[in-house]
Amino acid sequence: MGRITLDKVTKSFGETEVIPPLDLTIEDGEFTVFVGPSGCGKSTLLRLIAGLEDTTSGQIRIDGNDATQLPPAKRGLAMVFQSYALYPHMSVRKNIAFPLKMAKMDQAEIDRRVDNAASVLNLADYIDRKPGQLSGGQRQRVAIGRAIVREPSAFLFDEPLSNLDAALRVGMRMEISELHKKLATTMIYVTHDQVEAMTMADKIVVLRAGNIEQVGSPLELYREPRNLFVAGFIGSPK
Ligand code: ADP
Ligand code: MG
Repeated sequence: MGRITLDKVTKSFGETEVIPPLDLTIEDGEFTVFVGPSGCGKSTLLRLIAGLEDTTSGQIRIDGNDATQLPPAKRGLAMVFQSYALYPHMSVRKNIAFPLKMAKMDQAEIDRRVDNAASVLNLADYIDRKPGQLSGGQRQRVAIGRAIVREPSAFLFDEPLSNLDAALRVGMRMEISELHKKLATTMIYVTHDQVEAMTMADKIVVLRAGNIEQVGSPLELYREPRNLFVAGFIGSPK
């Protein structure tokens, strides 16, 4: 579970076409990074996959099923927001449980999932604290926990570390990579940071003005950048 395909997907805001026809396949279990300069359409592309924006044309399939018209909650994906989206008055447990409560899930199952997420994320000791009593990294883990409990077929991250300081960012990168290994679930990760892309990705999608310039592993992009834009962006010598 977790294979996502985009078939001639486009997105326009008014007269402006932000995503020209775009084809892309994300394989089950892959860690895919969308990278490119600010304004190139990374967030828009992620939001189209999540269902937070409607496509102008084209088709999005998730695990073979047409998801183009499905609302976000029916797509089986979980978007990880930045940690400042936590509820300050709720404990870690309640923050993580929140999406399941909203879905009216059975309390015993909620507890099981929250305990499991807390254990995977090393949050068990902090479960009764409020977000204000946590470090930035711990808060970010709570935000990820909220996605894990939904047991999604894919996780979508939009620059989740951009409001953390540099040292913490490096640690969280490693934690998210570890999490990917533990869960073996598809992850799509948006960043404008080349280093993040090169160190975390199985597959990198380089975007410029809504166009895919190149798709490949970090090594492929480094060794054989298709053009000067990719070379310049990835930092290899071509
Ligand atoms: P990135 O995440 O790569 O920085 P975005 O996907 O946020 O880029 O934006 C891509 C382009 O689409 C930008 O030119 C942006 O101004 C435009 N855009 C994004 N969202 C909207 C919107 N809701 N209405 C109009 N234009 C938008
Ligand atoms: Mg963005």
